[in-house]
Amino acid sequence: MGNLADTTSAEPDDYVGSAQTETVQLTEREILESAATMLEQVNRTLLRIRQGVRNECENCGTKIPKVRLAAIPYATTCVRCAAEAEGTSNDEPVKQRPKPRPPKVREA
Ligand SMILES: [Zn+2]
Repeated sequence: MGNLADTTSAEPDDYVGSAQTETVQLTEREILESAATMLEQVNRTLLRIRQGVRNECENCGTKIPKVRLAAIPYATTCVRCAAEAEGTSNDEPVKQRPKPRPPKVREA
């Protein structure tokens, strides 16, 4: 093994100073509110597990995919119902605009 090129040694010192992470200031009330919401979700999930309906959508009864439960362990609705609740249903066809297609150039 030869010497590794020492390219990492030339690190400017003042770069570190500007790399501070942004701190999000939450008010005490916001923290309490989000904690209460989380607690409620956990309790609800525990109850659903006990009832054996954890992977059932509480709105339409559809099976909630494992992937969704893995991503959001406290999810109580399927993706569709969650989207509808948020008013962002994906089912409604959005106005389709004709996209300008780039001309395909084939070279022989
Ligand atoms: Zn549903």
